[in-house]
Amino acid sequence: MPPDQIQDLRQLDKAHLWHPFTQMQDWIASEEDPLIITSGKGATLTDSEGNEYFDGNSSIWTNIHGHCHPTIDEAIREQLDRIAHCSALGFSNEPAIRLAEKLVGLFPAGTLSRVFFTDDGSTAIECACKMAIQFRQLKEETGRSDFVSFGGAYHGDTMGAASLGGIGTFTDRFGGTGYPVHRVDSMDRLNDWSDEAASSVNAVVIEPLIQGAAGMKTWPSGMLKQLRDWCDKHGVFLILDEVMTGFGRTGRMFACEHEEVIPDFLCLAKGLTGGYMPLAATLTTESVFEAFLGRYEELKTFFYGHSYCANPLGCAAGLGSLRIFEEENVLAGLPEKIEALQTSLKAAVERSPHFSEFRRVGLVAGIDLVDAGTGGELDWKKETGARVCRAARKYGLLTRPVRDTLTLMPPLCSTADQITFAVDALEKAATKVME
Ligand SMILES: *Cc1c(COP(=O)(O)O)cnc(C)c1O
Repeated sequence: MPPDQIQDLRQLDKAHLWHPFTQMQDWIASEEDPLIITSGKGATLTDSEGNEYFDGNSSIWTNIHGHCHPTIDEAIREQLDRIAHCSALGFSNEPAIRLAEKLVGLFPAGTLSRVFFTDDGSTAIECACKMAIQFRQLKEETGRSDFVSFGGAYHGDTMGAASLGGIGTFTDRFGGTGYPVHRVDSMDRLNDWSDEAASSVNAVVIEPLIQGAAGMKTWPSGMLKQLRDWCDKHGVFLILDEVMTGFGRTGRMFACEHEEVIPDFLCLAKGLTGGYMPLAATLTTESVFEAFLGRYEELKTFFYGHSYCANPLGCAAGLGSLRIFEEENVLAGLPEKIEALQTSLKAAVERSPHFSEFRRVGLVAGIDLVDAGTGGELDWKKETGARVCRAARKYGLLTRPVRDTLTLMPPLCSTADQITFAVDALEKAATKVME
């Protein structure tokens, strides 16, 4: 792109755009911003100046098989030649029907059998919560009004989803609106609850195995299974937020498979379309679904939906992504990549005085930065994590931190060499910024 055109775009961006989770004063002041991405191929992104970067956080946790994968590209193009969008209110479309069948087919028969499509992770959560609330009303379980969520949780930014969240910076300001929520920090705390307290709970919602926005915090092994048992014992729904962990990130198709847990509601988004389009799905059981059946005048209908529910282009992309999992045997190729991530992270943390520890599940990792002098935490106001990630650009890596935790979430298509390269780039960037 010609330099004057880049400058023009930068100025217009600063004049009119408002970026998510971004202090726009800094953004507008920065000479380097915005970095304008113009194309992508596989796990590589190219900017307007022709620089190439490894997409170290899968374009904020969405991309699965790489950018411009011919199978998904073709699936979308074919659908585009037919129709881009039509309503799911009163009509249906083939990609949505086929994708729902495929998703249900990823779980044991007779478990999750119904799919409600929405637009993003937040609305997948809202959909699950509203289904749970209406279910209790329909069953006249009036006492079951409350939700339980976990400290550090992140379930999205719409009002209800945000109210479940456990990260104060995102939620405190909007406190007082949203679902009635009890927050707990661990399974042990929940085990302390009396039967009576548990009887007021509608549903527990959790990010299984690993909490993303908390800074890649991992749960103890076996915890998810214990939570399922607790829910069963107390007649409580289990809502799994697999918006981040779904579609191979953890080494299995879904995180819940690691502990052989089937939730009552499963929320999917980010990777559902391979990271191509905004589409989400809330899966649930036939027994939940059946509670909503009745004559029209009984008003059991789930009066909920969005304009773009079951968008055909998004569903076509989702079908393309699932086809790649099959045709390219994607899951079978993961152990070698996970091993490369583990080995290089371990070596980097041992070597670098700026890294204290890392946590990893499958191809999802967080690396904590520390003060090399004291070995203690950094002052978050100094934005060290953000500065390290910015410096990593120079070494060919794009990713974002969660405060002073660096994150890596390479697309599943990455090679072992690319993954090692990414860890290396983070280490170099930390040295550059912190020494
Ligand atoms: C990203 C995310 C969400 C929200 O998804 P959006 O598509 O951004 O609305 C919810 N839960 C988890 C675990 C996420 O990582």
